[in-house]
Amino acid sequence: MNPIVPPVVLTKHNIISLGAGVQSSCMALMCAKGEITPMPDFAIFADTQDEPQSVYDWLQTLKGLLPFPVHIVTNGSLSKEALNMRVTKDGRKFSRTNIPFFTRSASGKLGKIVFRSCTSNFKIKPIMREVRSRCGVRRGQKEITVTQYIGISWDEWHRCKPSRDVWAQSRWPLIELRMTRQQCLNWMRANKYPAPPRSSCVYCPFHSDAEWQRLKTQEPDAFQAAVEFEKKVQATKKNAENSDSTLFLHRSCVALEKVDFRSDFDKGQMDIFGQGHPYCEEGMCGV
Ligand code: SF4
Repeated sequence: MNPIVPPVVLTKHNIISLGAGVQSSCMALMCAKGEITPMPDFAIFADTQDEPQSVYDWLQTLKGLLPFPVHIVTNGSLSKEALNMRVTKDGRKFSRTNIPFFTRSASGKLGKIVFRSCTSNFKIKPIMREVRSRCGVRRGQKEITVTQYIGISWDEWHRCKPSRDVWAQSRWPLIELRMTRQQCLNWMRANKYPAPPRSSCVYCPFHSDAEWQRLKTQEPDAFQAAVEFEKKVQATKKNAENSDSTLFLHRSCVALEKVDFRSDFDKGQMDIFGQGHPYCEEGMCGV
């Protein structure tokens, strides 16, 4: 099945949703070289304050390579907000921002949290708020005046979603060019740029085993932060939200520090947000 790329009308403003991973970095640099037009007015990176250090380091390098500004926005620390429990009048504990944790009930049944809001609250909303302000979008405006370039690659086309905002349209230049993630890496190498890191929160439950293993061996501080986060989540959210389930970051529902991530390597599970695996369908994380 092929992705459907809707016709894109020319708009007054063109902006990039920059995840600072492989695909969006490649897309931004292709814009810089005039291989994707029109040139964006600016790029926006939404910081959950929980990315691995390699992403922040690369973001600084990337800012120096791009001819247009990169604005950084944040709604604060996603991990802190996820641990911030509120209490209803009848005593139920809940948090306003949900991460897609895996769950194990008291009877041993495995599941996962379906209604997550981390991407919406910490990526989409802060980005679109900033775009509204910088592009002068009026209250109640229906006219499309902003085109948002999103770095979804050809191999992840199923993540393409139209814009939620009536005044904006999504555009997927890598889909138009039929470029896969590997071709983005090839383009980066051919143009003498380093391979960007994988961008996502250090504790993201969408990580493949390959990504967990990479974090564990190459970014041990980030991996340890994820281990600590899981422990805090389990302590803080115990018996919360009317549930007897324990929350986990890995789909096996085994404590992160005890999982053997190499067990899945031979099954081809190398793509954290790819088809056939749990993925972030918004197309905002991991690109
Ligand atoms: S990377 Fe994962 S945890 Fe972070 S905002 Fe995206 S889906 Fe949520």
